[in-house]
Amino acid sequence: MVEDSVVQTKQIGKYKVEVIRSKCISAGSCEAIAPGVFALDEEGIATVISQDGNSDDEKLLAAQSCPTDAIVVTDIETGEQVWPKA
Ligand code: SF4
Repeated sequence: MVEDSVVQTKQIGKYKVEVIRSKCISAGSCEAIAPGVFALDEEGIATVISQDGNSDDEKLLAAQSCPTDAIVVTDIETGEQVWPKA
């Protein structure tokens, strides 16, 4: 019998988010909008706790809410940077 070899990736959506820590001013709006993805660490800087704790739309909204554009959103299917806009 052939085993089903489909690789399960944990990521559900197609957007990957990253926090540029040096840009974060601890405003906290990312965490308020997407608390399953972002959390402030002990220094008050946002970190990504999970890529699939919220939907792609919520991740993008959270990034757009950041006053310093500290959150970069990348479409992992196309490799394109979705936010911030160039
Ligand atoms: S919204 Fe931006 S500045 Fe505020 S905590 Fe999140 S990453 Fe930092």
